[in-house]
Amino acid sequence: MTDKNIVILGGGQAAANAIKAIRSLDQSCRVTLVSEESSLPYERPPLSKKCIRGEKTLGSCVFFDQDFYKEHKIELQLGRKVESVDFHNRKLLLDQHSSVAFDRLLITTGSKNRVLAVDGLAPEQIHYLRTMAESQAIVDQLQTRNRVLVIGGGFIGLELAASLRTLGKWVTVIEAGSQLMGRAIPPEIAGIVQERHEQAGVAIQLNTTVSRVTTNGATYDVEMSGGHSITCDLIIAGIGIEPNLDAFEEGPIRIDNGIVTDECGRTSIDGVYAAGDVASFYHPLYDTHMRLESWKHAQNHGINAGKNLTGESAAYNEVPWMWSDQYDYVLQLSGLARGYESCVKRGDSPEEGILYFYLSSDRIIGACGVSIGPKIGRDIRIAGMLARAGQEVDPDVLADTNQKLQPLLPQ
Ligand SMILES: Cc1cc2nc3c(=O)[nH]c(=O)nc-3n(C[C@H](O)[C@H](O)[C@H](O)COP(=O)(O)OP(=O)(O)OC[C@H]3O[C@@H](n4cnc5c(N)ncnc54)[C@H](O)[C@@H]3O)c2cc1C
Repeated sequence: MTDKNIVILGGGQAAANAIKAIRSLDQSCRVTLVSEESSLPYERPPLSKKCIRGEKTLGSCVFFDQDFYKEHKIELQLGRKVESVDFHNRKLLLDQHSSVAFDRLLITTGSKNRVLAVDGLAPEQIHYLRTMAESQAIVDQLQTRNRVLVIGGGFIGLELAASLRTLGKWVTVIEAGSQLMGRAIPPEIAGIVQERHEQAGVAIQLNTTVSRVTTNGATYDVEMSGGHSITCDLIIAGIGIEPNLDAFEEGPIRIDNGIVTDECGRTSIDGVYAAGDVASFYHPLYDTHMRLESWKHAQNHGINAGKNLTGESAAYNEVPWMWSDQYDYVLQLSGLARGYESCVKRGDSPEEGILYFYLSSDRIIGACGVSIGPKIGRDIRIAGMLARAGQEVDPDVLADTNQKLQPLLPQ
C-alpha cells in the first residue's frame, strides 16, 4: 500500500490493464487516468471486424464500465489531450492551460495512424481506422457507399476488406509492397491469405500506389501507379501506424522508435514508466529492444507496468503473440518470424491448419500460421513455450502432423 499519486497518460488497452493490476496490489494510492478520447478505455480489435459488420456495438467494447472506476476510486479525466509533460516539475500540461501532477507516471499513448497525402484529395476525403469515432464514421459511410478502395494491405486494411466484402461491398486493396502484410508475416502465409481474399471477390493489386484522384460528385476516379484506373465511392487508408509521441520531445526522456524502457517498463526518468504500443522495451529473451503493436502485448505489458508502479520490479519476458481474423481464417504469429536459419512446415491446408516454424540453431524463435477457426492455437502456444525455454527441437517432429508437440516441452 502506498500514498503515491499515480497518473496514467493515455486510456487504451495497456492503461485499463495497468489500472486493474495497480488496484489488485494497492487500494490506497491515488490513481488518475488522463486520455484524449472521451470514451472509457476500450479494446480496438472489434473495430475492424464485428463493429464494421454490425455484429457488435461500439459501447460494448469498453473493458470496464463506469462503476468499476468509481468502485476502485480511479479519477477519470477523459476527452483531455496532454500537450506536453514537464518532467522536471512532474506534471502533465493539458489543453486550456491546466495541469495534472504526478509522483509516478505510466505513459500508454499507443500508436497513431500514418497519414497519406494523395494528389487531388483533401485530407478529410480519406478515412482511417484506429478509434471508435473512426469506426463509426466508416459505418456511416457504408449506408450509401458500395465501392471501396482500401489503400494498404496490412492487417487493418485486410481485416476491413474481409468485413466489407462480407457485407457485400465491392472492394479493391492496393499495396505498395510485393506481398500482403509484408512487415510482419512471411510470404508463404501472405500468399494463402491473398488467395482467400481473391476467392471472396476482393481485387488485390500489389506493387501499386495511387497517383492521383479526381472527385466526380460522390465518386472518385483513382489513377494507379501502373497507369490503370478504378472508380470508387469510399477511400480508406491503412498504411501503418507509428508510436504516438505527440506529447514528448527527445531530451528529457529517451526516445528511439518509441519511449525507451528497460525490461521492467522503466523509462530514463525515475518513477516514469511506459507500456503498450508506445514503448520500445528491452526484451531479455531476445536481448534487444522492440516495439510491439498487439492486443496481447498491450494487455500483459500494461499489467506488468501496473505492478511495478506499486513498487515491484517484475521483468516482462513474454513471447510476442498476435492474431488477425479475416473471413473464417485466423492468422496467428508467435515470437519472431525474422532472422531465422531454417523453416519447417506443418500441415497442408487451412482446414487442418498450416503452420511454419522458424528456427535458429535447432531452436524455435517464431511460428506463424493460418487455419479456419483458431485450430493452430494450441501448436502456436507450444511453439511460444519452446521458444521461451530455448529448447532444441527435432524438425521431423515439427513437420509431422501425426505427432503431438507437447512432448517436446521440457519436463
Ligand atoms: C482497428 C484495430 C484492430 C486491431 N486488431 C488487432 C487484432 O486483431 N489482434 C491484435 O493482436 N491486435 C490488434 N490491434 C492492435 C491493438 O488494439 C493495439 O496494439 C492496442 O490497442 C495498443 O494498446 P495501447 O494501450 O498501447 O494503445 P491504444 O489502445 O492506442 O491507447 C492509447 C490511448 O492514448 C490516448 N492518447 C494518446 N496521446 C495522448 C495525449 N497526448 N493525451 C491524452 N491521451 C492520449 C489515445 O487517444 C488512446 O486512447 C488492433 C488495433 C486496431 C486499431
